[in-house]
Amino acid sequence: MTATLIDGKARAARLKADVATAVAELAAGPGVQPGLAVVLVGNDPASEVYVASKVRDTAAAGMRSFEHRLAADTPEAELLALVERLNRDDAVDGILVQMPLPRHIDTDRVVSGIDPAKDVDGLTPWNAGLLVLGKPGLVPCTPQGCVILAKEAVGSLSGLNAVVVGRSILVGKPVALLLQSADATVTMAHSRTRDLPAVCRAADVLVVAAGRPELVRGDWVKPGACVIDVGINRVPAPDKGEGKTRLVGDVAFEEARAVAGSITPVPGGVGPMTIACLLANTVVAACRRRGHAVPAVLGR
Ligand code: NAD
Repeated sequence: MTATLIDGKARAARLKADVATAVAELAAGPGVQPGLAVVLVGNDPASEVYVASKVRDTAAAGMRSFEHRLAADTPEAELLALVERLNRDDAVDGILVQMPLPRHIDTDRVVSGIDPAKDVDGLTPWNAGLLVLGKPGLVPCTPQGCVILAKEAVGSLSGLNAVVVGRSILVGKPVALLLQSADATVTMAHSRTRDLPAVCRAADVLVVAAGRPELVRGDWVKPGACVIDVGINRVPAPDKGEGKTRLVGDVAFEEARAVAGSITPVPGGVGPMTIACLLANTVVAACRRRGHAVPAVLGR
């Protein structure tokens, strides 16, 4: 048996098209144009690529994009002052501060400085609290993407056994809460979990966000399970030439593919969903902040 590939690129393209439709409806109706501000501190090459994509996709969806680039040695107070200005700027509906921040800056302090109503990354304590309470807030983008893809593959998650490997604030914890809200029975596994292979084998839906290349082997996967691989790891690829690298997930793809019912590839699985969910969150933030209904095409 070979698992069905869950095409994150195609699903993300559909979500982006829905966002563009929602933006057009808001322009034609209440005359609102959502705006997303992206802040990049320093010049980490991976962050540069992410920010460029976010800026490009924001504009492509018909939204306003505000880009702020600060030097790597920018004092924390200056970044906090910029966040405060963006909080007060009515043209800005979403604020995204690209992580990781330089070491001299306290990430928690910066995240906590973002107005929760504009926190399109869903990382402020306020939005994290709303997620725990099961109340509407702004939901972190990568976890949201994981659950959309899982639903795409299996339909209803109600009553299914879901296992999440990894308990980070950014991915594992919010994924587990979202799966629970979708009525799955959720187990959270982490680096101290005993007999992780056995825990994983109980999963109808297995979400892996451990940051460990190919940690999950084929014989850890229940036959027919849905596997969502969040990991993005760059590893040496001597077969491609000296010094060459390739991207792998946290799941040994070929092994798992032979057992699973459906599986996300890396790249092309969860990754593309993250930006699409960020754009959707910006529209949701714009509507809620301004007291308009979220266009039905975004299903909220
Ligand atoms: P993290 O390092 O913050 O957390 C990793 C978690 O995995 C921890 O809770 C840890 O307990 C657990 N873990 C580590 N080793 C383990 C092991 N051997 N067995 C079981 N559990 C183990 O990482 P993160 O921010 O949650 O990211 C996880 C992965 O997802 C990374 O590869 C990251 O690059 C990727 N990621 C992808 C996207 C995307 O858009 N696709 C977004 C965010 C993160």
